[in-house]
Amino acid sequence: MSQIPLTQLPDEPAVSCSNCAACCCQLEVMLITDTGVPQRFIDTDDWGGEVMRRLDDGWCAALDRDSMRCTIYELRPLICREFEMGSPECVDERREMSAIYR
Ligand code: SF4
Ligand code: SF4
Repeated sequence: MSQIPLTQLPDEPAVSCSNCAACCCQLEVMLITDTGVPQRFIDTDDWGGEVMRRLDDGWCAALDRDSMRCTIYELRPLICREFEMGSPECVDERREMSAIYR
């Protein structure tokens, strides 16, 4: 029986939102355009700007805690739309989160 050399096995799973605990949904998200985010999910920052509200656990108020999916996907802010899976920012967030829970 042939064996797979350990060096060929990936250290980490491929980057995908389906194997991520919505790491980027803990970031501060400013509302720079009106995409229709419901008022109950909006907070005001110290400078008077509108941001997505975050709850005590650190995640955005619009995130479903069971599925870890956005409950307002069609209305999500521009910043969320532009945050690219697999981008350096995404990989950084995943790495930081895994370091916290390791
Ligand atoms: S974009 Fe990146 S950090 Fe955000 S949920 Fe998807 S994999 Fe996780
Ligand atoms: S609006 Fe949706 S995609 Fe944006 S941070 Fe909140 S839960 Fe995540």
